Amino acid sequence: MRSYFYESPSSFEELFQIGKTTSNEVKFLAGGTDFVPRLNYELNEVPKEGQKDLTIISLSKLGLDTISESDEEIKIGSMVTFTEMKKNNIVNKYFPVFEETIKELAGLSVRNVATIGGNIMNASPAADIVPTLMALDAVLVLKGPNGEREICSKDFFKGNGRTVAQEQEVLKEIVIKKQKGTSSFKKLGRRKAETLSVVNAAAYIEKENNICKKARITIGSVAPTVLRCKEVEEALIGKELTDETMKEASLKVIDSISPIDDIRATAWYRKKVSPVMVRRAIKSACDAE
Ligand SMILES: Cc1cc2nc3c(=O)[nH]c(=O)nc-3n(C[C@H](O)[C@H](O)[C@H](O)COP(=O)(O)OP(=O)(O)OC[C@H]3O[C@@H](n4cnc5c(N)ncnc54)[C@H](O)[C@@H]3O)c2cc1C
Repeated sequence: MRSYFYESPSSFEELFQIGKTTSNEVKFLAGGTDFVPRLNYELNEVPKEGQKDLTIISLSKLGLDTISESDEEIKIGSMVTFTEMKKNNIVNKYFPVFEETIKELAGLSVRNVATIGGNIMNASPAADIVPTLMALDAVLVLKGPNGEREICSKDFFKGNGRTVAQEQEVLKEIVIKKQKGTSSFKKLGRRKAETLSVVNAAAYIEKENNICKKARITIGSVAPTVLRCKEVEEALIGKELTDETMKEASLKVIDSISPIDDIRATAWYRKKVSPVMVRRAIKSACDAE
């Protein structure tokens, strides 16, 4: 059986030094709401032959738990919990869509410890914060031993549980430009609360005289990653935002998705409800002030 080690560095230098000097597998720990259940599962399994020891590195002392704003953008540290985000004045002033998203995400006890960074790095196709971040065109900042790099959220996810991040890279913060449009998030689960998404969707809309000038539409839980729905966006831009055009555009989402059957829903059901969720997100974004 492999051995487990725990480290809690108080600087990035210390963190990268641990990575450099150990031959163990290294994993980062944020709130632990995904990580710890997975670890428990591993501990209950028959140990794998030749598995490396594991060093768990807590990210809690790196100062990644702040939210700040400049004239153009807001920055959310990856260790900010959903509870902190939901009550933050800067977030609520510029992006009320996060309140709408977070109140649908898990329950209070999970939100008190679960972080935005953990939700992103877990890279689940059902992650609730990701459609909203992608609809806002958020930029994700990774920090590794060789420096920092910025990746647009739409290019960040490579598959279920996979991102472009290298093993030693930490998601440092999320940067979102202040924008003039409005956004909304909609989630369909098997019940009203404490449930993962069967389908979730988010929309960002900029309009003038009710003509759509810009649209970013995203959908989750219907492919290996959360998706940008280009076909829906193209069908909206330049059109008057009536119930009819929203409905017609939403139907185009079928061209982008590849849902599967799982314990939460069948692929057939997901295909049926995807246009409905997209339409609701667009309509709600259009109605938001
Ligand atoms: C009961 C329950 C209900 C849930 N409901 C929902 C829900 O409705 N919607 C939803 O989207 N999720 C839900 N989740 C999943 C989970 O709570 C979220 O994904 C949460 O945001 C994970 O954050 P965390 O801080 O706990 O991450 P952790 O569990 O600590 O980490 C998750 C993964 O990300 C990596 N990681 C974390 N932070 C970083 C970082 N800064 N840089 C690099 N790697 C990092 C870790 O190594 C790990 O692989 C639920 C979980 C539970 C237990």
